[in-house]
Amino acid sequence: MNLKSKLPGVGTTIFTVMSKMAADHGAINLSQGYPDFDVPGPLLDAFEKYLRGGYNQYPPMSGIARLREQIALKVQRLYHATVDSETEITVTSGATEALFVAVQAIVGPGDEVIVFDPAYDCYQPAVTLAGGKTVHVPLIPGTFTIDHDRLAAAVNDRTRLIIVNSPHNPCGSTLSADDLNRLATLVEARDLLVISDEVYEHMVFDGKRHLSLLTSETLRARTFVVSSFGKTCHATGWKVAYCIAPPELTGEFRKVHQFVTFTTHTPTQWALADFMEFHPEHYLELPAFYQRKRDLFASEMVDSGFTLTPSSGTYFQLADYSALSDEPDSRFVERLTREVGVAGIPVSVFYEEPPEQRIVRFCFAKSDETLRNATAKLRAMAPD
Ligand code: PMP
Ligand code: GLN
Repeated sequence: MNLKSKLPGVGTTIFTVMSKMAADHGAINLSQGYPDFDVPGPLLDAFEKYLRGGYNQYPPMSGIARLREQIALKVQRLYHATVDSETEITVTSGATEALFVAVQAIVGPGDEVIVFDPAYDCYQPAVTLAGGKTVHVPLIPGTFTIDHDRLAAAVNDRTRLIIVNSPHNPCGSTLSADDLNRLATLVEARDLLVISDEVYEHMVFDGKRHLSLLTSETLRARTFVVSSFGKTCHATGWKVAYCIAPPELTGEFRKVHQFVTFTTHTPTQWALADFMEFHPEHYLELPAFYQRKRDLFASEMVDSGFTLTPSSGTYFQLADYSALSDEPDSRFVERLTREVGVAGIPVSVFYEEPPEQRIVRFCFAKSDETLRNATAKLRAMAPD
């Protein structure tokens, strides 16, 4: 058989690899990002109600109207952005689907797409499958913020799209108002489109506000904003998310979405609509909920020998282990999993050209007990 791979350089995702390694070695899994606590009770109750209540056939292709209306209300409330739920919001089967569909909808052969390294791993394969070329611009080491000069220098006549991610996985950094202004100036001047991966929008800490690209009129007009209920509702396995984009872009998005998944699981959509309407406190309280976990993890790591990069958003924490080992990060996390009993994610896999750094990512979306047990094991690595 003459099988010509369309993704020749691509293996199994690091999340699958590390979660399997954690399970094989009985290690505490702080690698793949998912909570080890359950979905809120009222959301489960609503799900059961709709599952048993006959809400089990195809919903509309763009998602049920009630859920889209609730999303529009939330966006109005948090970002003061007026979004038409009919023509600008599409419910998708996870943010992964939304990101893939947005890329297929607008990127063609020869188009260049800029991503910032370290970049979440589903962006580049989507660009490759669309026939495009991914151009990697590194974030500034240490702060993991955008180097706007390098970004501007990477734009040329073939550039079609920039993909941003804030709060940022794996770094935990967030875009500032200045970042948004500079991006807006660039995309308008060079006639570019943007995908804004905002799946961690409700996990921003220390009193800061999430700066959605929906807050900028200029950016909004050119952007697909993607968010995920998986993160917000402690339900990563439910795979329900959404994409907000102006009508013209949403039209192109839906042309592809209808042939990728067509639509998304019905009872889950109804349950999420109920939960958003009757329990908005859930997403309003999420920053404090995760900030406490971030702080618990950090305080338990004080004498561990790891140096933590401040995390201002997401449920991830970067940890520099250079005081503990000279090993490259892939080897270090393997040893951590096998010998110490805690799994993390090597950050180098998210780079086209990994810099000289010794950093791993830990997920703190875990029960306090899990965090205490994991950090006790990590602290035991510190030299006496
Ligand atoms: N983008 C980022 C930055 C993520 O961390 C994730 C997932 N964990 C996704 C997209 C995909 O989200 P979903 O699980 O809803 O497909
Ligand atoms: N986004 C999750 C993470 O960063 C993983 C999602 C996945 O496994 N595809 O850990």
